[in-house]
Amino acid sequence: MLTSINPSNNKVLKQYDEMTTEQSYEIISLAHHTFLEWKETLFTHRSELMKKAAKVLRQNSEEYSVLMTMEMGKPIAQSRAEVEKCAWVCDYYAENAEKFLTDEIVKTEASKSFVSYQPLGVVLAVMPWNFPFWQVFRFAAPNLMAGNAGVLKHASNVTGCALAIEDVFRKAGFPENLFRTLLVSSKNVKPIIENENIKAVTLTGSVPAGKSVASLAGSLIKKTVLELGGSDPYLVLEDADLEKAAMSCVNSRLINAGQSCIAAKRFIVVKKVYDEFEKLYLKFMSDKKMGDPLNEKNDLGPQASTQLRDELHNQVLRSIEQGAELILGGKIPAMDGAYYPPTILKNVKPGMAAFDEELFGPVAALIKAKDEDEAIDLANKSIFGLGAAVFTKDNKKGEWIAKEKLNAGCCFVNDFVKSDPRLPFGGIKESGYGRELSPFGIKEFVNIKTVYIK
Ligand code: NAP
Repeated sequence: MLTSINPSNNKVLKQYDEMTTEQSYEIISLAHHTFLEWKETLFTHRSELMKKAAKVLRQNSEEYSVLMTMEMGKPIAQSRAEVEKCAWVCDYYAENAEKFLTDEIVKTEASKSFVSYQPLGVVLAVMPWNFPFWQVFRFAAPNLMAGNAGVLKHASNVTGCALAIEDVFRKAGFPENLFRTLLVSSKNVKPIIENENIKAVTLTGSVPAGKSVASLAGSLIKKTVLELGGSDPYLVLEDADLEKAAMSCVNSRLINAGQSCIAAKRFIVVKKVYDEFEKLYLKFMSDKKMGDPLNEKNDLGPQASTQLRDELHNQVLRSIEQGAELILGGKIPAMDGAYYPPTILKNVKPGMAAFDEELFGPVAALIKAKDEDEAIDLANKSIFGLGAAVFTKDNKKGEWIAKEKLNAGCCFVNDFVKSDPRLPFGGIKESGYGRELSPFGIKEFVNIKTVYIK
């Protein structure tokens, strides 16, 4: 049984029967047969449907936004923004997929030689709950445009979203079985990966989930893309505009109640400006309002579940035991729901949970560095390498640090890290491999075929 629970009051919203493996196999087989026809369609036809999907999203934005907020607690304004972003990625690939996947002539001794991009078949997407629509659309839009079919195994707590997404493609007029949702929990994913019609797997989620899925897929020689966790460092240098930097750092830490892979997690501030930064950071964090995510006045709602909230609290307690100092929050409030307040730990150092692990909630780790070199070293001292940001008035220096020094997939200067359909998104180290979005994302699950005519 898959259960959706509203984390703002812990009441059960709905329960769904899990599919048996046979039922999943039936759907995968239907998706495969649909793929065989879909791959023959023209880009103009696919674009038309993908544009319609964007329209369906915009027309039903309120319904989808409320559903997301009810199932996982995202503040309603952020849910609305997420639906709009999904429409954007549909439009983006509707307009650009053909250009990205056009044959590329390569001059050789042949009379003609070129690279052609051919779809692979049915791709399995294992997705997380934190951006329940966006994570799926950034997979589905490029892949359906490339000629693939998709089956979605969504996180067990957002089944309502999973079914609504399937319905978006149905409403847009895509073939009935081109994109389907499988109602299965994580323990039943293995036989799905093993199904011969599943040609590749993409997983967005935690490191253990990524390791488990990728090792099985690897043993079957099925390609994977992994978008895993992060502990993004934000560097604040001596010449930074501290007010802007602190505001940006707070907003990035609290987005989605802190449950974003690219939320800022470690704030590494050089000694000279540390005290001033801490003062501003504390003020801005203290100003944020926590409460009912359906009330637009609130900046953050609950965590997605009490279990996840309790795990986060345990990380805070362990960090304090290890020597970190709590200067804000850090207590489970006496109210219904999975709430956790904006929290700040200072004096955070390597070896502490708040430094070494991913803190998936509104908990900031403040770290003092003696200078820029030490700040860069501390930033890179992580098993993760997803995003990173640097704040400085010297854009040239910022660019050099972002490009040459920070070991991460997405490095920003004077802004917080965000995903954008036009730019590649993904990580290195235990944050995963492969890229989503941009021309790179649409080429992950295609056969990059060489054609050579003598
Ligand atoms: P999770 O527990 O790993 O779950 C993600 C998905 O994987 C869910 O559908 C889950 O299903 C499934 N899953 C878990 N263990 C599995 C296994 N052994 N075999 C097959 N499937 C498995 O992660 P989460 O708590 O939902 O999401 C938070 C994590 O995702 C964080 O680490 C975050 O940083 C990461 N994330 C990364 C990105 C990125 O782009 N890099 C974006 C968003 C989130 P069930 O729900 O049924 O367990």
